[in-house]
Amino acid sequence: MSNSTPRDLAERVRALAIEIGFDTVGFARADRSRDADRFHAWLADGREADLAYMRKTPERRTDPRNVLEGCRTVIVVTVGHWFEDPERTAELPARFARYAKGRDYHKILEGMLKRLACALHEQVRREEEPNSELGDDERHRWYVDHGPVLERAWAAEAGVGFVGKNAMLIDPRRGSWTTLGVLLTTAELEPDAPVDEGCGTCRDCIPACPTGAIVGPGEVDARLCISYWTIEHRGVLPEEMRSAIGTRVFGCDDCQDVCPWNRFAQPATVADHRPRELFVDADLARLASLTWDEWDDATRGTAVRRVGYEGLLRNVACALGNTGDERARPHLDRLVTHESELVREHAVWGLARLAETARPRETSTPGREADGP
Ligand code: SF4
Ligand code: SF4
Repeated sequence: MSNSTPRDLAERVRALAIEIGFDTVGFARADRSRDADRFHAWLADGREADLAYMRKTPERRTDPRNVLEGCRTVIVVTVGHWFEDPERTAELPARFARYAKGRDYHKILEGMLKRLACALHEQVRREEEPNSELGDDERHRWYVDHGPVLERAWAAEAGVGFVGKNAMLIDPRRGSWTTLGVLLTTAELEPDAPVDEGCGTCRDCIPACPTGAIVGPGEVDARLCISYWTIEHRGVLPEEMRSAIGTRVFGCDDCQDVCPWNRFAQPATVADHRPRELFVDADLARLASLTWDEWDDATRGTAVRRVGYEGLLRNVACALGNTGDERARPHLDRLVTHESELVREHAVWGLARLAETARPRETSTPGREADGP
């Protein structure tokens, strides 16, 4: 006979999750997701761009019981990755999405989720089902970003936050600079109450998006989103996107930078999220000069690996062209001779773009002070 009520178990698991280092934890009853219809409509409109995996088995994505037989609870956990930005001193500053600057969040969260699953498994086996022969895999599954679950929708249902008009999960106590993990379990834990939607009349993120990718409240069209083009897209970038990315070389944070909820951001407690040296004050000039070996060393274990060496240099070539700064020219001249055809092609475009937009930097002259900050 069970010793634990769903409430007892929920409180024990919450304490374990906080001990492991998660910032927030919430529980939802495993059922058909309330976002299922919206997800199907999003797919029907083709807004997933060429993220083909999103089309696979939508019935699994919208109901966790189709992923884990007997699933009764969806556990959602978050870990913050915000660190205060340093003063920028790079001559040609490059922009990286905040989440990507430290160790790959998949690796961070997967390790922590595995510990939580083991701890939960022990609790259930010891106290509730001592004679059960179910193995770990039949009791729990965990996912970070690439599993067949609608993570943000479950996070909202589990009371971890609400989904803002920018489609990000916003924790009212910490803002949106967090990464999410989901643990499906056959154990029954008392569900938490969902958080009320918190955007109200604010719509700051919609005009802040440089490409108009937020096509409706909470709806991002991946075909227009800079994050998609700079991270997921392989090969040649469409011309209009080359200029639209500005100096962003991996992802885009504009719709989060303007969000008033991010005033509540708190420094990350997981040290692995601390930005790597290459990304602290990232410089397009330095990025453009990276050899494959240097790139391999500097990005090992980070999410930036996803775009690959050539993909990063492709983005850097566009970004150099978009600086409008003559100091970008020698770096583009070098990339024009790069061994990769993809990089060469975008460097040629970068030089043409620079010719349209570059103006020489103002220098101070004797007797006249340079402009202050
Ligand atoms: S990540 Fe950038 S491009 Fe994508 S929706 Fe947000 S602001 Fe727009
Ligand atoms: S910027 Fe405003 S509208 Fe956009 S997600 Fe934040 S609170 Fe919501």
